[in-house]
Amino acid sequence: MFKDLIKKLERMNGQSVSIPIDSDENGYIDKQCPSVACEFIFKVNEDDWRNIFNDEAIWCPLCRYEAPATQWFTIEQVKHAKAEALAVIKGEINNALRSGAQKFNRRQPKNSFISMTMEVKGGIKRTHTIPAKAAELMQLEIQCEACHSRFAVIGSAYFCPACGHNSVTQTFSDSLRKIRAKNDSVQIVRNALNVTIGKDEAELTCRSLIETCISDGVVAFQKYSEGMYERFGKLPFNAFQRLEQGSNLWEVAVQRSFSDWLTSEELATLNILYQKRHLLAHNEGIVDSQYIKKSGDLSYKEGQRIVVSGKDIDNLVSSIEKLANGIKEICDRA
Ligand SMILES: [Zn+2]
Ligand SMILES: [Zn+2]
Repeated sequence: MFKDLIKKLERMNGQSVSIPIDSDENGYIDKQCPSVACEFIFKVNEDDWRNIFNDEAIWCPLCRYEAPATQWFTIEQVKHAKAEALAVIKGEINNALRSGAQKFNRRQPKNSFISMTMEVKGGIKRTHTIPAKAAELMQLEIQCEACHSRFAVIGSAYFCPACGHNSVTQTFSDSLRKIRAKNDSVQIVRNALNVTIGKDEAELTCRSLIETCISDGVVAFQKYSEGMYERFGKLPFNAFQRLEQGSNLWEVAVQRSFSDWLTSEELATLNILYQKRHLLAHNEGIVDSQYIKKSGDLSYKEGQRIVVSGKDIDNLVSSIEKLANGIKEICDRA
């Protein structure tokens, strides 16, 4: 009576069960970084995955971990696949047992003294697989400027998963979005922290959140400038950390300086913010004579601590964005 089961098992030996993966309604499939430290989830366009992506190497958009294409299934997809494979195997075994039992029951001799019947509990079990469902849509869809593959992420991405390209302009615009998001959500964070950890900690946290926006902006613009300047030659160390030196470098390279893209008032405000960043990084925000001399900011006396406001951050983002656009325009033309 176990003949059917044995036959089935022999046939199943070494056979693979393939579980399809659905794409979402925009035609994107889920992928996940296999690096345990990262596990970043993103999506890739299904057609591009087939036509542009390489089997040998895929890069994580967040950490640039590199691994062959077979390693990028999401943890959810793998979990689903294991469960599905098990369901299929169980189904096959169950169905083989059932048909074995039926044959056994049919073979019972009539009028015998003892009659035996076999019963396998439950109905016929499914032996087909159900595809892995796609996770919900991701808002930020990106197309790589180098290989034109399309992918989608939550938050931000630094690298193209198909070619590993790091887009200077993409990274810069992501940074600006991050700074704006921090600046805009300070009040919400403050309210939430007021009730959970108390007013003192809430104030400290929010002040630090705003102050980090300054260095975020300065570093983002520095990295952007370095990336865009690459084609013009070697750079002195950290040259783009200083506003005046950066402006001079562009003047030599493309005959345009920061005063071509910003009003003198905007430039003066930006200079104050750069000096504030310097104070925060090197003097815990306490005003010294160097600050007053370099920034021309007469609203503070030596020994005072600087204040960074939401308006400062708005000014910073708006000015570095104007500069970045100016630089891009002239580099695109060159
Ligand atoms: Zn990663
Ligand atoms: Zn690419």
